[in-house]
Amino acid sequence: MQKKSLIIIGSGPAGYTAAIYAARANLSPVLFEGFYSIPGGQLMTTTDVENYPGFPDGISGPELVERFRKQAIRFGTTVISEDVGDVDLSVYPFHVKGSKDTYEANALIISTGASANRLDIPGARDGEFWQKGVTACAVCDGAAPIFRNKPLFVIGGGDSAIEEAIFLTKFGSRVYIVHRRDQLRASKIMQERALNHPKVEILWNSVVTAVEGDTIVRSVAIENVLTNRQTKHEAGGLFFAVGHTPNTAFLKGQLELHPNGYIKVFKGTKTSVEGVFAAGDVQDYEYRQAVTAAGSGCAASLQAEHWLTEKGFI
Ligand code: FAD
Repeated sequence: MQKKSLIIIGSGPAGYTAAIYAARANLSPVLFEGFYSIPGGQLMTTTDVENYPGFPDGISGPELVERFRKQAIRFGTTVISEDVGDVDLSVYPFHVKGSKDTYEANALIISTGASANRLDIPGARDGEFWQKGVTACAVCDGAAPIFRNKPLFVIGGGDSAIEEAIFLTKFGSRVYIVHRRDQLRASKIMQERALNHPKVEILWNSVVTAVEGDTIVRSVAIENVLTNRQTKHEAGGLFFAVGHTPNTAFLKGQLELHPNGYIKVFKGTKTSVEGVFAAGDVQDYEYRQAVTAAGSGCAASLQAEHWLTEKGFI
């Protein structure tokens, strides 16, 4: 079994930032970038990132990730292109099982992110209008020119769907919340905000059944689930706001999680197991941005380094 000082699991902005800091502190980190789990993380599924500081003209998500990766490797990170299928946090050093070998680690940073949930709608899939007007992040993409002064559609019924819809009123001509029931799940205060907003309309008992366009989204088809009536609406964009799933299944309950599945952190990035730290979207169900993920990756690396020093490993 190979023994490592610090293993980082996950290859989004959180994992790579943690790796850059750890490598520069001579910890020779090993980073599992994943294999089946989209190496590079959520930014690999987006086109332009316009809110990451340092890129006044924007940068494509995959190019930004490639830069993170190069920077981490330049300072001595070893990147392993495998998924971690299993960890054992009940033993020390911790065991981390890749697809080929098992490693021992004195400290662990978990930065496996979260996956934005999407619905399987004809026209909204990869290779169709996904990222050509269909997205899963209003805060990230809402300000893009293709959405300006166009009718925009948000699918969802919880607080985040309402938040996203209200955010989008700054850009769209009108924002429709498409909800399959006759009641929202959102808190009362958020519901009132949506119901009283002059630019927001709720399409009750409705589902989006198709997305159409040319090079970008131009219309959505909507079905009323009570009457089965189909209508076609001009649209500039469709936003999924149907939740996220944190990538924590491989932990199999060995760390304390919130009821929604996100890792619980204490005093920065410390988890319920000493020597295990969590960074990025896997522990953040509020902000979920590349820059906040990178910030917590930095914090996790510094906390891991302090911990390893305290324990006399470095
Ligand atoms: P992630 O980026 O989710 O990366 C984690 C990665 O870890 C996984 O994808 C996978 O490769 C790896 N992994 C997972 N499980 C395992 C495992 N078991 N073993 C090994 N590796 C594993 N944010 C912005 O700031 N600006 C934007 O413009 C922007 N646009 C976005 C557009 C879309 C469509 C989406 C979905 C998100 C967007 N975001 C944007 C949000 C941003 O991408 C995330 O907040 C950020 O990527 C979170 O980083 P992370 O490092 O925590 O995790």
